[in-house]
Amino acid sequence: METPKQLRAALLSSPGQGHLIPVLELGKRLVTDHGFEVTIFVLPSKASHAEAEIIESAMTPKLLNIVELPPPDLSAVALSQDATVITRLAVMMREAQPAFRSALMAMEAQPDVLIVDLFGTEHLCIGDELGIPKYVYIATNAWFLALLLHSPTLDKEVNGEYVDQTEPFNIPGCKPVRPEDVVDPMLDRSDQQYREYLRMASEIPMGDGILLNVWEDLQVETLAALRNKEFLGPVANGPIYTIGPLIRPVRPAGLEKELLEWLDKQPSESVLFVSFGSGGTLSAEQLVELAWGLELSGQRFIWVLRKPVVKSLDGSFFNVGKGGGGDELLSFLPDGFELRTRNVGLVLPSWAPQVDILSHPSVGGFLSHCGWNSTLESMVSGVPMIAWPLYAEQRLNATLLVEETGVAIRPKELPSKKIVRREEIEKLVRTIMVEKEGHVMRARVKELKTNVEKAVTKEGTSYESLRKMKEDCKMRIHQIKKAH
Ligand code: UDP
Repeated sequence: METPKQLRAALLSSPGQGHLIPVLELGKRLVTDHGFEVTIFVLPSKASHAEAEIIESAMTPKLLNIVELPPPDLSAVALSQDATVITRLAVMMREAQPAFRSALMAMEAQPDVLIVDLFGTEHLCIGDELGIPKYVYIATNAWFLALLLHSPTLDKEVNGEYVDQTEPFNIPGCKPVRPEDVVDPMLDRSDQQYREYLRMASEIPMGDGILLNVWEDLQVETLAALRNKEFLGPVANGPIYTIGPLIRPVRPAGLEKELLEWLDKQPSESVLFVSFGSGGTLSAEQLVELAWGLELSGQRFIWVLRKPVVKSLDGSFFNVGKGGGGDELLSFLPDGFELRTRNVGLVLPSWAPQVDILSHPSVGGFLSHCGWNSTLESMVSGVPMIAWPLYAEQRLNATLLVEETGVAIRPKELPSKKIVRREEIEKLVRTIMVEKEGHVMRARVKELKTNVEKAVTKEGTSYESLRKMKEDCKMRIHQIKKAH
């Protein structure tokens, strides 16, 4: 049998804007640059209007087929009230398997390749059922992947909780991971999310390869370590494709008139953008300190303000966008804050067109929770960061940005552990916006930007990596057909 001329790819995305965006962008890239026909299966969390908006804008022009899977029935699943976001996502994805399988079967023509994201690894077996190659798209960075893949080994070697250890964890060939930087699922080894996390780590090597949302030059050593069979053993069976950065494109009319006019009036690189991703929230006390810190710094800012939460560690992933309108939100700020800062600052409720803001020439800094999409968007815009990690793998990302890439500064103590006080925030903001250290970082991140621009051209490494994945995929199709 012949390999099909145009490959049909089925992509599965887990719920949440941060997961959906890189999958949609991968889909678009497969279509526009590599001639695939792409169907994306999404399991919407229905958490916010933002998700619908993201899907809609990815449909213009209509390059992708998007199939919304019905929300799984979780009534028979024993899910505790305080189950974490990661547990909930893992369970939702698991329970969606029958719907995903039937949706695939209902396709007019069977796909030639299956690509799932991190939460979709349990569906790799469907690739085997269909007799097609299957890949895992880890839409974050290589250091995270190395820690994830090495976690089953750490699970055997480390006694007690990871966070109680005094020495960093060695990952062969990689920068060691400090106990305080471990990813959320590693915080409590008795929690279901830890078991789900280890399961994902053990399932990833079952794929025919791993796609990563970085470009080759960003993490040279870590990538070399990941590709070294001696270190990561069976994992090295499948190739690692560095295909990033895949981020939402800047939209020509992405900024509303008022916001655009305000930004246009500000001096070049003078505005700090403050946002904590799709689910990040602060405590009420932290929010007040941040407001004071911004005000005392005297710097210009745009702040995407979200209703505070009592417990902020897990973010408000499933609640963002629900309630908390303008006036109610402003009531959480110090008295008179808006009036006193109105000449220098803008407060936007809950959600803002982030990529469009970051790419505006007036923006010169980003106070960010360090979600990987936000991190890439900042790098691509040439904007240095104040790293304010909250949950998931963000502490790891922050350390990468501060210690390895050199494009961010951060508070002395983790914001998820201790309130960052106004004086320290004032200093951080001034450092990144006006002091020499900030200028040096801005120059470094601009070098990265140039580097990225090269990686995504037709001669660049990321383009080449996806082209290689397509070639390998064709070969796998051929091998699988021959074996049957
Ligand atoms: N985002 C946005 N507007 C907002 C908040 C977030 O457009 O007000 C987008 C942001 O540009 C990024 C994504 O949502 O593409 C968030 O993903 P990230 O990985 O940074 O963090 P997560 O939300 O997954 O924690």
